Amino acid sequence: MLEIVQLNAFYGQAQALFGVSLRVEAGEFVVLQGLNGAGKSTLLKALMGLEVRTEGRIGYQGAAGAANIERWATHRRARAGLGYVAEDRRLFTGLTVRENLRIAAGRDAMAQEARVLDLFPVLKTMLKRPAALMSGGEQQMLAIARTLMTSPRILLLDEPCEGIAPLLVESIRNALLALKSSGMPILVAEQNQLLAGSADRRLVLVAGKVRDS
Ligand code: ATP
Repeated sequence: MLEIVQLNAFYGQAQALFGVSLRVEAGEFVVLQGLNGAGKSTLLKALMGLEVRTEGRIGYQGAAGAANIERWATHRRARAGLGYVAEDRRLFTGLTVRENLRIAAGRDAMAQEARVLDLFPVLKTMLKRPAALMSGGEQQMLAIARTLMTSPRILLLDEPCEGIAPLLVESIRNALLALKSSGMPILVAEQNQLLAGSADRRLVLVAGKVRDS
């Protein structure tokens, strides 16, 4: 589904990833771990074509077949099904929950919204609430839900559980496991052990390299 081969990433002259290789298959839940600064966010940004310059290959199995996407613009990667949720969530805080979802919707918005709200029942109870008035954990659910409204083929999440109450971490984990069992591949950068404990595979980054396990 996604195959990263010998990926290097650079911020200007500074190299942040060194020869990272990994695969994520359909229905696989992979967690990326590592200390602050190890390169987790950089890897997700590199997959989306954001901020960093990369060398190496990114193979992706999209709806239109397999392709190497490492030279594609970010919007093309998103349209091809890479669903990314950044660490800062990037919600429209002045808009309500429902408006945040609708703004991301493609075709078949109503049915998609119903599916997404079933995954995150808490959001159903606050559809009219401005995103600014939600807790961090609720905002994180909304950010994931909004990305799901675009019908992605793979989910890339940057620290979804950082600083979030345990009960909401549990809800996020349950939603991710339900998505996984429906065949969605998921790659999550995350230190939270509850989430990491549910992963099929964990990969540890140390100073921009995959640690041998
Ligand atoms: P965190 O949990 O703190 O987000 P991380 O594992 O996601 O850590 P990255 O944010 O990917 O780590 O950082 C990897 C390396 O790249 C670090 O050395 C960091 O200082 C550097 N870096 C990150 N963003 C930039 C940037 N915009 N410009 C220059 N260097 C950066």
